[in-house]
Amino acid sequence: MALETAVRAVAPAPVKSGADLLHDPLLNKGTAFTREERISLGILGLLPPHVSTMEQQAARALKNVRARATDLEKYIDMLSLMDRNETLYYRVVTDNIEELMPIIYTPTVGKGCQLYAHIFRRSRGIFITKREKGLMERVLRNWANKDVRVIVVTDGERILGLGDLGASGMGIPVGKLALYTACGGVPPEQTLPVTLDVGTNNETLLNDPLYLGVREPRVTGAEYDELVAEFVAAVQKVFPKALIQFEDFANHNAFRLLERYRDAVSCFNDDIQGTAAVTLAGLFSACRVRGTKLSDERILFHGAGEAAIGIGDLVVTAMMAEGTSREEAMKKCWFVDSKALVESTRKDLQDHKKPYAHVHAPIGSLGEAVKALKPTALIGVSGQAQQFTPEIIGDMSRFNKRPVIFALSNPTSKAECTAEQAMTGSDGRALFASGSPFGPVVYKGKTYISGQGNNAYIFPGVGMGAVVCGAKRVTPEMFSEAARVLAGLVTQADLDTGCLYPSLTRIVECSAHIAAATVEVAYKRNLATEPKSKDVLAAVKEKMYKPVYKTYA
Ligand code: NAD
Repeated sequence: MALETAVRAVAPAPVKSGADLLHDPLLNKGTAFTREERISLGILGLLPPHVSTMEQQAARALKNVRARATDLEKYIDMLSLMDRNETLYYRVVTDNIEELMPIIYTPTVGKGCQLYAHIFRRSRGIFITKREKGLMERVLRNWANKDVRVIVVTDGERILGLGDLGASGMGIPVGKLALYTACGGVPPEQTLPVTLDVGTNNETLLNDPLYLGVREPRVTGAEYDELVAEFVAAVQKVFPKALIQFEDFANHNAFRLLERYRDAVSCFNDDIQGTAAVTLAGLFSACRVRGTKLSDERILFHGAGEAAIGIGDLVVTAMMAEGTSREEAMKKCWFVDSKALVESTRKDLQDHKKPYAHVHAPIGSLGEAVKALKPTALIGVSGQAQQFTPEIIGDMSRFNKRPVIFALSNPTSKAECTAEQAMTGSDGRALFASGSPFGPVVYKGKTYISGQGNNAYIFPGVGMGAVVCGAKRVTPEMFSEAARVLAGLVTQADLDTGCLYPSLTRIVECSAHIAAATVEVAYKRNLATEPKSKDVLAAVKEKMYKPVYKTYA
């Protein structure tokens, strides 16, 4: 990213001095403190004498990360940098987003969560257990920063495609919020990661002597709902301007919680709504390549959980905007779950699948469903690796000149197929995107760049937009607008290489445009609480956090 040149403001002296200042990652500049600052702030002699520029510090930090042998070690190294000096952390991340996003977020964050208790160095975020029932407001007031605007909360039950990781799931809110700042410009001091540690049913964790969470089975039913309700109410009191992002809840809770709170507080579920928007943007791009309309698609989802149903619902909204009736639009979305095709004779369907149980004879497998339905688009969101077999990819390519094949399951080890399998299996014709990144594929002399349907294109911008205008609610319209805006930022050059998304290096620009679109929806729907600027995009850009040091007087 070309970091915008920001004027180095002369700031009043920080609230801390001496060793406390050096140990506060939000204020610490490390060796970049000038001699004058070292004298006035009581840190003279506490640092090596050379005063580094931020560029020198960034080069050193990057050299250290690159020297680590494994991605997990790089992940730990980046977390340590975040714990020492957040400004430098964000500088390094934003300047090297393509290289570092897979380290600080998926896929490496998955490993980081699985090993959370083993690699634990320093606590970050707030943990709430059932013992804090009645005390949650007090717990939230323990957080040092009082102007929290974005909270990412998980209960750790469905971390990526890895399942129940209990309190070890904390790596996800921490990583997501880093992306809110790095990609969306939400100031780091306004973010708060939260884990509702309601126990875990993961035997490996329960038997791990180093596990850091509550060693009890998960709380369920009314007791669980009461804990979440108290948490949401406490947030309204302690951080009334905060947006709550529900993250990586298992789908039996995710849909219910979203239903319960979406019209009551400022909140959304990224697994359902963010995924939907980024996937819809990819479908819009695919339509652009083919010269078709979204309503021309017949989409088969592998998986019928949060991501799949979320995408289906948003696709229906977008098809309706093209003039298709709701009924017709829904009939263009088909789902295969862990048992079979979702269809009307099934008696075992959870509520979120029922609206898509169309009339059809039972079909047991994905391969048979592809043959019977001849979809134009196949979207993998089942968390099951290698389900798009060569036969399935071959069938998709027989039925379509340019088949859409999205292997969105994370992390990489769970992807339904690799970029290479999609391109070779379709003779280079697949319009492919994945959840975790794949490198370029060379096939018959042509290099294909596969786009990453990464939610990070969407949630930082929507979140920043909500922060800028003080949105009272986050609505589906904000996500469909985000998809439209993101697709509009894809260049012909991107499409020519097979990439359905803008380059990740443009993610800050994408977030700014999505934030502006979110703000516009909020004003249109009377959901904003802050006064409107004349030039919304300029105001968003101006408010976005820039990782530059303050110079202290
Ligand atoms: P979920 O648990 O809500 O849903 C999983 C679904 O897959 C369920 O409907 C389940 O029945 C189905 N399933 C399980 N095994 C299956 C099988 N063998 N065959 C067919 N279906 C099967 O989870 P989710 O939130 O929907 O996430 C699913 C996957 O999508 C995860 O791997 C997640 O990382 C990925 N995801 C990717 C993105 C992205 O790339 N942008 C965003 C969100 C989720």
